[in-house]
Amino acid sequence: MAYEDFDLKGDCGTEENYLSPFELTLSTWRTMCSRYRKQDVKANRDISDNVSARDYETYFPIFRGKCDRCGKRFTDFLPPTLGRINCKKAHNNNNVGACCELCNKSRGDGDMEEDMLQFKLR
Ligand SMILES: [Zn+2]
Repeated sequence: MAYEDFDLKGDCGTEENYLSPFELTLSTWRTMCSRYRKQDVKANRDISDNVSARDYETYFPIFRGKCDRCGKRFTDFLPPTLGRINCKKAHNNNNVGACCELCNKSRGDGDMEEDMLQFKLR
């Protein structure tokens, strides 16, 4: 019996390292900011402090990291979103965490439903 075979296969859970981390572009970030601003305006939240293009450099490294909630690394297949901590407040720097689409959706704070509704109305 060759015991060393077991050692070679023992390194599990590294699959996600083969995927490149998510690279946030300025144009993607601008699109996200404008989408969040629209959601907040529609819900009558105060947007005076909302995330904007000037926060790009702050979020670039955060979006290369992992989801706040499930701990999975962001990739093109699992893109980051901003999840609000306090649902009554807007997407400002003190009220958002980086989380994946799935976690954001499963939290059900209404943003995704708003997106769907807007899509249907067009
Ligand atoms: Zn997640």
